[in-house]
Amino acid sequence: MNTHVLEVLGLKRSAGVHPPSNKLGAQVAIERAPLPETVTLPLQQHIGAPAKVLVKTGDEVKVGQVIAEAGGFVSSPIHATISGTVKQLPTVASSVTGKAVPGVVIESDGQDQWIDLSPANPDDLTPAEIISRIKEAGIVGMGGATFPSHVKLSPPPEKPIKTVIVNGAECEPYITADDRLMIEHPERVLSGLAIVMKTLSVKRAFVAIEDNKPQAIAKMREQVSQSSFPGEVSVRVVPRRYPMGAEKTLIKTILGAEVPEGGLPMDVGALVHNVATLAAIHDAVVLGKPLVERVVSVTGLVKTPKNFLVRFGTPASALIELCGGSEPSADELIFGGPMMGIAQPSFDTSIIKGTNCILVKKSDIREEHDCVRCGRCVEACPMGLMPLQFVNLVKYEDYDHLPGYHINNCVECGSCAYGCPANIPLVSYIKLGKLELRKLGVK
Ligand code: SF4
Ligand code: SF4
Repeated sequence: MNTHVLEVLGLKRSAGVHPPSNKLGAQVAIERAPLPETVTLPLQQHIGAPAKVLVKTGDEVKVGQVIAEAGGFVSSPIHATISGTVKQLPTVASSVTGKAVPGVVIESDGQDQWIDLSPANPDDLTPAEIISRIKEAGIVGMGGATFPSHVKLSPPPEKPIKTVIVNGAECEPYITADDRLMIEHPERVLSGLAIVMKTLSVKRAFVAIEDNKPQAIAKMREQVSQSSFPGEVSVRVVPRRYPMGAEKTLIKTILGAEVPEGGLPMDVGALVHNVATLAAIHDAVVLGKPLVERVVSVTGLVKTPKNFLVRFGTPASALIELCGGSEPSADELIFGGPMMGIAQPSFDTSIIKGTNCILVKKSDIREEHDCVRCGRCVEACPMGLMPLQFVNLVKYEDYDHLPGYHINNCVECGSCAYGCPANIPLVSYIKLGKLELRKLGVK
């Protein structure tokens, strides 16, 4: 169907776009951010059921202590990220959905007292014990998807994983957190990979890195040659093209396989893990360390773009100050990159598990015009879809025809909107269309 659409329109499928990279912090080493005086931790930092709070106001907590337990199998616990006292259990706005979610505010005692960690040798653990440690540590997909990692590591028996793909593409402009992690901590990333391969008895893995990250490619290749794995691992350099880092694009590029519509990578025997997730899996399994911090790029209109190792719950404004503040023209804060990131209502929004970047920018509100049927959105779509049709159908509330145009295959990458001369916010229309279909119970 996809080729047909393009042929009908006389277009060549370029599958993706080439926005300027703007990797401003690519040469800036990761710096540990000072401990915040207070942290605000939303209890929904993952896809799935919200975590259930276990603490009350006035409780003393240590770093790594579980403050909210998983609310189901597809859920993840939340841990205290500083030691101190629980000050409030407020309702906070989710930085992902904007919806009100329960939260926990902890005031620091300045001591950074940790719970007792229990390190382990992965060779001494069974796959079930490894998955349990990953679950208890609250590991979720840290490339932004935030899907609980223990669920991804528990495929049904009829869908065995044959290949693991390490996602080091980091294709969104501005973001440099994964690049720096691969340059500075390749051993943690690859230890996490070895653990995943062992857990799922996988014999083949590829580390996919875009060609604009030569230092990361060299470091990962060097580390692969020095490490031992339960199978074959190789580094694959992939062309810089947005959205190379989308799971389906990466699987198509590396394996030549198409994940079926509505399906998952496991449907083609693949598992994709982001590099930060693998480093966190290493920390959880080998060190016994719960997920309490991550690398975050702070970039855009700040005096000095940087990469920080940050405790969750730290307000974005504190990190922007550590970058020398924002430029006077800056009036918008995005969590994530410019293509898929989410605008935040306040510069004080807290960093959570899925926050890989704080992008400070000037807002760019452009007037929407009528579609000129130029076909650029069709040409740019990596999934071979017809984004312009989604706009028409959603505008006229013709939801019945949306599934026929495979709207649920859209990965919401924004490539279609990027070059639209009519400034049509295509992804907003697509999200609305998907929402209406969900309300109608159409899959
Ligand atoms: S939606 Fe935008 S990019 Fe797509 S055909 Fe219309 S004007 Fe062109
Ligand atoms: S947002 Fe969806 S429709 Fe638009 S280019 Fe990406 S996958 Fe295609």
